[in-house]
Amino acid sequence: MSSTPFLAQRQAVIASCLRLADQGYLAGTGGNVALRLDAQHFAVTPSAADYYGMTPEQIAVLRLDTLAQVAGEMKPSVESAMHASLLRRWPERLASVHTHQPLASAVALLGQALPLDEAADIAALGPRLEVVGYAPSGTSLLVKRLRRTLREGIHAYLLRNHGLICTAPDLPRAAELVARIEATAARWLLRQAGQLPQQHPLRRRAEAALTNSC
Ligand SMILES: [Zn+2]
Repeated sequence: MSSTPFLAQRQAVIASCLRLADQGYLAGTGGNVALRLDAQHFAVTPSAADYYGMTPEQIAVLRLDTLAQVAGEMKPSVESAMHASLLRRWPERLASVHTHQPLASAVALLGQALPLDEAADIAALGPRLEVVGYAPSGTSLLVKRLRRTLREGIHAYLLRNHGLICTAPDLPRAAELVARIEATAARWLLRQAGQLPQQHPLRRRAEAALTNSC
């Protein structure tokens, strides 16, 4: 066995972080990515690390039931318990991604559920993104609020005043879905912002996101 357990999966976590960071969805060292490794373990990005310098050895491996760290040179993300909640509840969804992506986070500031408006997205994520009530990052209160909000058939959640968390069958699909959610948020905000002048920054940002998602 390799001296780095779950090497390929931990490399895949880094690849996913780079893809999300390149799209501007992680904002500095914010956001984090988790991947189920087997029935007992998951990998998660370390706390406050630069995604562009990350090595597989730095990706933490935790037990799903207790969150005890069994491998990894750095402390795991403070949001590990949120990821574990999703991975435990939906064992067939291997990936969990938490982002601070700009437009979905703007909707999260408003505290309103975001309806999904395209059939493929509804099939993948459910009819809407539910809102998890505000609690500070990395707290057990936030985990409790997330767990209380989880619904069968809903696989993405807005975290009030913070960002979003989304699960998917695998990491590439998770990255694709957060991009789809960003485009949905752009359309939703443009509908809300119908009265805004053409050059308003929010409007320009939403229009640019839609152009990029095409
Ligand atoms: Zn966060």
